[in-house]
Amino acid sequence: MTDLLLNERELRFQLYELLDTEALLQRPRYAEHDRGVFDASLTTARQVAAEFFAPHNAKGDANEPTFDGERVHMIPETKAAWDAFAAAGFLAAQHDFADGGLQLPEVVLRACMAYFNAANIASVAYPFLSIGAANLVKAFADVKLRERFLPPMLEGRFSGTMALTEPGQGSALGDLRTLARPADDGTYRIFGQKMFISGGDHELTENIVHMVLARIEGAPAGTKGISLFLVPKFLVNADGSVGLRNDVALAGLLHKMGYRNTTSTVLGFGERDGAVGYLVGEAHQGLSYMFQMMNEARIGVGLGAASLAYQSYIHALDYARQRPQGRHPNNKNPLTPQARIVEHADVRRMLLQQKVYAEGSLALCLYASSLVEDAHTATTELERRNAAELLDMLTPVVKTWSSRYGLLASEIGIQVLGGAGYTREYPLEQYYRDNRLNPIHEGTEGIQAIDLLGRKLGSRGGDGYRLFVAEVLATLLVANNDIHCAPLAALLADALGILEQVTTSLQEQVAADATLGLANATPYLDLFGRVVVGWLWLRQALLASRTLSATQGSETDFYQGKLQAAHYFMTWELASLESQARLLTDANHIAYYMRDSWF
Ligand SMILES: Cc1cc2nc3c(=O)[nH]c(=O)nc-3n(C[C@H](O)[C@H](O)[C@H](O)COP(=O)(O)OP(=O)(O)OC[C@H]3O[C@@H](n4cnc5c(N)ncnc54)[C@H](O)[C@@H]3O)c2cc1C
Repeated sequence: MTDLLLNERELRFQLYELLDTEALLQRPRYAEHDRGVFDASLTTARQVAAEFFAPHNAKGDANEPTFDGERVHMIPETKAAWDAFAAAGFLAAQHDFADGGLQLPEVVLRACMAYFNAANIASVAYPFLSIGAANLVKAFADVKLRERFLPPMLEGRFSGTMALTEPGQGSALGDLRTLARPADDGTYRIFGQKMFISGGDHELTENIVHMVLARIEGAPAGTKGISLFLVPKFLVNADGSVGLRNDVALAGLLHKMGYRNTTSTVLGFGERDGAVGYLVGEAHQGLSYMFQMMNEARIGVGLGAASLAYQSYIHALDYARQRPQGRHPNNKNPLTPQARIVEHADVRRMLLQQKVYAEGSLALCLYASSLVEDAHTATTELERRNAAELLDMLTPVVKTWSSRYGLLASEIGIQVLGGAGYTREYPLEQYYRDNRLNPIHEGTEGIQAIDLLGRKLGSRGGDGYRLFVAEVLATLLVANNDIHCAPLAALLADALGILEQVTTSLQEQVAADATLGLANATPYLDLFGRVVVGWLWLRQALLASRTLSATQGSETDFYQGKLQAAHYFMTWELASLESQARLLTDANHIAYYMRDSWF
């Protein structure tokens, strides 16, 4: 069963039919590429993922890294996987040719990452974080720092982390306490403890570059006083060679439910005389810089959840097609062969639910990645700005919907297998445990919901929200004239109307009283997410409807499946929107008024 790795046909559909990825070739940045380059990258990603990542997914889970007080030990396959990832050029894939990169579009790189996530989410966390850290260095570090640290990060000699969380603060970054004291030579000495830092220690690379949020002595309280520092595990000499150990110590490893082959570290900075840290960009602007990495990581976390959802779906499907059990209710003859469980209505329902969540979240995350791309390389300034605003508004939805429903797809996968799903002989239980992290890290569901309702919806006069509504209306206009899609369009139009009403009502509630108004932010985000994914399912249905008549065999099945799934999503998943919306517009605050002492 280990050869089941996403689905090439699905990824091709997402990239080249749902998104017009080939059109990127018209942009000057990609003028030297052709479709073959994109396809070759995907093929390489699939091969490297299958050969170097998938085979040790279960082994890494069963043999998590250990710390003997001096060194971290982990299974050797992890290092081979890191090396293969770096050798294939994926660490530098997005970067300029001049920097040794491949100038691969964001959306193609993320589609490649889906293969790695699907193969082994824990081992790919090291390169995933390193790509984000390198992007941060590239965007905000000064030339000297960039020249010293970026090339080895892109080559795979140095890896990277993001170090935000502390023992005393997780969601509330404004309260972080790690201190940065200016030194005479223009660098800083960092003092404090960071917790939950993924990839914070290991021996996969010569050096680890920590991107650390800290407060310069005397800086204002709250988020405005936070700066960003580059703090290497080993100091780097002027000639680029790795020098003395910096004052960054591993205090211990955390033991997790999933993602076990990723080290989760507690790091002590400055337990001796202070860890040498280099200020990145300007003082007190650290959080705004870090948001670049966090936003990138939020889409990446969503994509991780979508990839695990997809794995859970195809493994459950594979099992259901083989497992004989029981007979149809109207067949009372025990002498007839048993039905395969895929034939049972309840199992089909579960598989279809998994399909709409897995393919819906994949579509959502790749769409978001295409917006990242457009925000950087779209032809006109207006297109770039619109993409950036849409992306900014949708990021909490992308992260949260994919994490919540991706996890649900993994959970349903266990149910499809029955008892087998609960055993470690099958990968479903690991997918579930791994996927359980995604609604937590990179900002919990509750924090994303407050971000959407309290900040993103109204930012820049609500442009992002208006752009989204305009996109949906444009799709509805086309779908209304399509024989298969017109009934689905009517359902989505109703859902959009509900979203509009709820949004207006909640914005008024927030303006009147932020605490009460934000009390139901999470169910609002959920409702919002279902409309967004409903829109993406309608777009998939439209493509299927247009293409079906010209297809045969497995291609007909593929598009027929898309239509059926879109139908299911619109009728079943959007059905409860109205009652959920009423609770929100009625300002139902039952949970808020529950008192601590009544629990
Ligand atoms: C496996 C793993 C890997 C991680 N990797 C990294 C990493 O590489 N780098 C890094 O810096 N961090 C990392 N983290 C930390 C992660 O981002 C935090 O765990 C997360 O942001 C939540 O913070 P917390 O755990 O302190 O929970 P808390 O902030 O204590 O939250 C607990 C609960 O309270 C809710 N809550 C908190 N504040 C509010 C509020 N104002 N309004 C409403 N609800 C609220 C939350 O939604 C949550 O349900 C990782 C965590 C894990 C588990």
